[in-house]
Amino acid sequence: MEIKFNNVSFSYNVKSPLEKEVLKDINIEIENGKITGLIGKSGSGKSTMVQLINALNFPTKGNLEVGTFIIDSKKRKIKKVNDLRVNIGLIFQFPEEQFFNMTVFDEISFGMKYFKFKTADIEKRVVNALKMVGLNKDYLYRNPFTLSSGEKRKVAIASILAYNPSIIILDEPTIGLDSISKKKLVELIRTLKNRYKKTIILVSHDVDLIHQISDKIIVINDGKVVLDGNKYDVFKHEAELKKYGIKLPKAIEFSNLVYKKTGKKIGYRDDINDILKDVYRNAR
Ligand code: ADP
Repeated sequence: MEIKFNNVSFSYNVKSPLEKEVLKDINIEIENGKITGLIGKSGSGKSTMVQLINALNFPTKGNLEVGTFIIDSKKRKIKKVNDLRVNIGLIFQFPEEQFFNMTVFDEISFGMKYFKFKTADIEKRVVNALKMVGLNKDYLYRNPFTLSSGEKRKVAIASILAYNPSIIILDEPTIGLDSISKKKLVELIRTLKNRYKKTIILVSHDVDLIHQISDKIIVINDGKVVLDGNKYDVFKHEAELKKYGIKLPKAIEFSNLVYKKTGKKIGYRDDINDILKDVYRNAR
């Protein structure tokens, strides 16, 4: 599913003394089947954008197209809003903190029950969702509170994948995970894109993660889109990014340093570990 913001502005507390415009004339396209990284300082408006996509709020001006749904400032209503929401999997920061069921099965099936899926389909979908995140059936009746942090995160993601949304929005997905769990999660996000053709929005402060797996990057600052393009182009705007409080990914910093010291340009790599492997191979 594609998402388009057409001249979208948004204010909290409209027509009150506290009125504050936090999104300003946003025009972006989030492409089907791609990973879009959304970055910007805290308070720049990222969560507010996500809440508009899910029709938790309506724009004050303009409209959004989410597949065939229109989220419009004038209409402020969507027929069959659950038909929209079942297509959007929102995975918040520390999703496992919201667990409240005593088995993995109940935790994963909760969303499907809410969306009124047929009981006969639920078990199969729970098992499939577990498989997608790399957990086997043995986990079905385990207590989710006793799992490792990486496993908990996987169960939280499985609870969204189970109802098969075409858009997946991950807010700081790797926060609090150790490096192995983080690596596995990166693989999972790539699989969701490549094998399951999901449209993915990645909201994160982790520029290394964003650089490693995004196709496209949108930078937001003080409610405005200030950079929008493929990752190779966006990270060329070093001075501008610095102005918006965004660091360069380590992989780019390292390439810049090598160029400065030796005059040599090293080949493009998304991941700092791949660069280090290159250096190791070539330095021996
Ligand atoms: P980000 O996700 O980039 O940190 P947010 O979208 O949460 O940014 O916030 C954008 C701006 O909107 C901030 O100035 C924040 O204080 C304000 N804001 C967020 N939620 C509310 C709310 N419910 N009521 C009033 N202002 C809000």
